[in-house]
Amino acid sequence: MQKSNYEKREDIFNLYANNLRIYLEKLGGVVRIDGVNIDLTKSPIYVCPLCRRMYAKSNIEGKDPVLTREHNPPKAIGGDARVLTCKTCNKFFGHSTDQTLINDVIDEPFYDKEPNASIDATFNIQGHNVPGKIIPSQNLLLLELDGLKKSKQAQIKKYITKPGPGHADITVRKNDFREANRSALKIAYLEMFAVFGYAFVFHENAARLRDAMKNPNSPYPICRVNDKVDENLLGMSIIKEPTNLVNYKIVVPFKFYGGRQRNTAIIIPGPSEKHWQNYVEWSKQRDQISFTATVYPKYQGVITNPECVFDYYGFMGEPVERPVNY
Ligand SMILES: [Zn+2]
Repeated sequence: MQKSNYEKREDIFNLYANNLRIYLEKLGGVVRIDGVNIDLTKSPIYVCPLCRRMYAKSNIEGKDPVLTREHNPPKAIGGDARVLTCKTCNKFFGHSTDQTLINDVIDEPFYDKEPNASIDATFNIQGHNVPGKIIPSQNLLLLELDGLKKSKQAQIKKYITKPGPGHADITVRKNDFREANRSALKIAYLEMFAVFGYAFVFHENAARLRDAMKNPNSPYPICRVNDKVDENLLGMSIIKEPTNLVNYKIVVPFKFYGGRQRNTAIIIPGPSEKHWQNYVEWSKQRDQISFTATVYPKYQGVITNPECVFDYYGFMGEPVERPVNY
């Protein structure tokens, strides 16, 4: 039998509440709220990965729960729901930020001059707005009108076919690159949380990323690279070159109508100041840099296994410094 939406929320809640408990136990830490020690086995808590507010289980209940499943990447481009985020954060990011990223990715082939790539446009012809597409074709740009009300067809056809002076305005959307990057970063950040749990969220470098994704005037850069990614590197991989230090690369597949797919890659710093410096350097070079990366080998079970709970801190060599508390 298919699970109800509540049961799906509950599964995620339990998984990450358990991860939080393991993480804190490993640190020898105690959760204290209003001066009272909280036993996380009796009162599980989920911390929203985007704002770090704490939520008890009652927050997944009801018709309009505070914690909801977040599709990552957005459902419109084929994402699935593996984490919960809170209402405040959903409101903050809204749908328009994600839509900016989707538009940016959809339009990229056109600006890259790929064959047959088109871009949506609006044609204003004699005061009538008509949606359509611009399609490059050899040295020409073809204009294709999509929907045209029957009543206007004859009028516009006459205008277009009749020789003589006239003009039509063409508008194409201009995507806010920075906003699209913030959305891409959020997707990669949540992917990191999905895999590594709270060991990632409570790290200082993750706090810098949250600032970059929430605050348009943040001093912290966002490192998204144009990446003609091969299919083998979808998901999470670890960058080994140009440095032997562990930084992460998240490759997000965007699935469009018509079976098309386009990928975008976002770099996430590893757990030290040195990793952050690499991240900052790479964000300046973006398109010139090429990475050697290997796919993260053990995707499943990290957050539930006490032995793996600090995997974010380096599992391929010497672990770097771990937190003493958060
Ligand atoms: Zn939140």
